[in-house]
Amino acid sequence: MNLILLFDDDFISDARVRLTGRRLQHVRDVHRAAEGESLTVGIANGRIGRGTITHLGDDALEMDVALDRDPPPPLPLTLILALPRPKVLNRVIAGATSLGIKRIVLINAWRVEKSYWSSPRLTPENLLTQSILGLEQARDTVLPSIETRRLFRPFVEDELPSIAAATRALVAHPHASEECPRNVREPVTLVIGPEGGFIDAEIASLERIGFTPVSIGQRILRVETAVPFLAARLY
Ligand code: SAH
Repeated sequence: MNLILLFDDDFISDARVRLTGRRLQHVRDVHRAAEGESLTVGIANGRIGRGTITHLGDDALEMDVALDRDPPPPLPLTLILALPRPKVLNRVIAGATSLGIKRIVLINAWRVEKSYWSSPRLTPENLLTQSILGLEQARDTVLPSIETRRLFRPFVEDELPSIAAATRALVAHPHASEECPRNVREPVTLVIGPEGGFIDAEIASLERIGFTPVSIGQRILRVETAVPFLAARLY
């Protein structure tokens, strides 16, 4: 946790917060901080600054907060991701959030197992928890929007064209003949496939609305590796 993310509910007066639970434990056990020390804090969807510890006990952590700067700029990348396996989902959401991605749409695809859609990891509470972990890691405060779409065709035909409008529309596909571009200077909408890859008909649907299949080489990467690799390559 390189930043402690604060929410309105944490404030007990204008500039003082009181934290319990995970954040208290982390400050005690990992930071091993003491009263008088200060830590980096940020308000959810707001500014960043320092929190000076005024009380640190078994019961709670209290800090006086002074905010003086904006969070880092977002990555202009919208991620459209075939729903990964539940175990992988947490890592991908936290990782994508730490990269600065602010919009993620989890979609169905032919090779997404149906059971993944009933995973408790898809609840808004868990997705929020994973996003918070990503923000705390990266010293950011701006929560991403994470949506789910269970029908591939209607999403691609009716919604994706407007999401991708005025952006470079790419689908990462290991069998593409075109190489993924580097250092682009424009926003990108990037589609990433399931573990088993997209089927031809899905790639064709995406191509019909203007997406270009691109490859990042012969090595087939796991989704959690492909996302940071692609983000770094694009920006
Ligand atoms: N067996 C699948 C691989 C899926 S890997 C297949 O042959 O298609 C999961 C997803 O990660 C892919 O759908 C793609 O979006 C992305 N990916 C992984 N390795 C890639 C590569 N070398 N080039 C482009 N995309 C890749």
